[in-house]
Amino acid sequence: MAQPTDLMDKLVSLSKRRGFIFQSSEIYGGTGSVWDYGPLGVELKRNLRDAWWRAMVHQRDDIEGLDAAILMHPRVWEASGHVAGFTDPLVECRNCHRRFRADNPDIAGGQCPVCGTKDAFGEPRMFNLMFKTFMGPVEEDAAVVYMRPETAQGIYVNFQNVLTSSRQRIPFGIAQVGKAFRNEITPGNFIFRTREFEQMEMQFFVEPGTDDEWLEYWKAARMDWHLSLGLRAEKLRFHEHTPDELAHYAKRAFDIQYEFPFGWQEFEGIHNRTDFDLSRHQAYSGKRLEYVDPTDTNKRYIPYIIETSAGLDRTLLVVMADAYREEEVEGETRVVLALHPKLAPIKVAVFPLIKKEGMPEVASRIHDAFKAAGINSFYDDSGSIGRRYRRQDEAGTPFGITVDGQTLEDGTVTVRDRDTLRQERVPTEGIVAYIRDRLQ
Ligand code: ATP
Repeated sequence: MAQPTDLMDKLVSLSKRRGFIFQSSEIYGGTGSVWDYGPLGVELKRNLRDAWWRAMVHQRDDIEGLDAAILMHPRVWEASGHVAGFTDPLVECRNCHRRFRADNPDIAGGQCPVCGTKDAFGEPRMFNLMFKTFMGPVEEDAAVVYMRPETAQGIYVNFQNVLTSSRQRIPFGIAQVGKAFRNEITPGNFIFRTREFEQMEMQFFVEPGTDDEWLEYWKAARMDWHLSLGLRAEKLRFHEHTPDELAHYAKRAFDIQYEFPFGWQEFEGIHNRTDFDLSRHQAYSGKRLEYVDPTDTNKRYIPYIIETSAGLDRTLLVVMADAYREEEVEGETRVVLALHPKLAPIKVAVFPLIKKEGMPEVASRIHDAFKAAGINSFYDDSGSIGRRYRRQDEAGTPFGITVDGQTLEDGTVTVRDRDTLRQERVPTEGIVAYIRDRLQ
């Protein structure tokens, strides 16, 4: 199955046309690198988030969920190192005043890629990526607070709360999904790098000395999860951080990369963060964040943390890019999103072949049965059956059900498979169970 070379443009246009993703505040000309999810996009994003939550929280006994607030005590970001160190080097063109990240390869020769000025840039200055705002009614008196640039800190500051209330023992983890904000200097590539995005993060607390093993465990588990979404193995790889790339707090770190049309890029990080985070929060808050082993109370230590940190939006881009296909069918180009059924926004579409002879009534009843079973179904009776199938192919709907003349005679319907295009006759009676069995 072919993938076009201008895949990113195709994804942007499909997203807008079919209601996956729109530019934020589009009628005002758009907001810089912020995107809104439309009717199909919101379902896809939700299914992806739910699949992660199921695998990381519901299917395990050793991970608890959390939903911490976006606004946190400002000291959190001093302890975490973000106030002092969450910066990118920024340079500005002395002629057109456009700004770039100093490490952007487009400005390597010192020439401004926008206006062409030579020797355009002076010394870089450091630019903090955190969004700041004020808490309290009067701006001057109010405390500065930050919009969190990652969800992880909400987990660290709740470590003791979760530990005592859940009665977990080490090793165990805390998972959460939520918004993060970064005032990126060079956002771009659609939803790849944006200023507002969602992260799916899990922090796994382990005894020092067992951290290397757990890092290996989580590398394998996270790669398996991506494969379970149906992503092509040859498009995925690990990249180990070199000493230059390694964050100051990390002992070892791996990225899971995907081969995007613009090259191999990270979409999830798996990091051994040592005891850096809890030690810092203990020092800055004055609260003990040690773990006392309940089986041996002389054994106390600050846990090491293995982190798995994935971008929800960026993973959604991976999923869409991996699923997009164009193929020739009977002399026409068919665009299809071959999404895994568990991620597909619409699971099944129901069509009466024609709008008479009782077919719409039977089709409506089937559609209602899916809705009652919690399976997202779409009813469509307009246009030729071929056009209706093609609309669903673009939306990634794995199954199409057609009610036709034979249905009225023998009670069977046609089930069309999005990927193989095979059609099968299935009794109407068992249709909900038939589709449900094929969604996982
Ligand atoms: P990058 O180098 O791409 O900016 P990072 O190394 O700063 O990423 P982390 O801080 O490790 O990224 O964040 C973990 C994950 O969060 C990333 O793998 C990515 O999926 C997601 N992420 C980070 N920044 C953004 C962003 N600006 N837009 C969308 N997703 C992001």
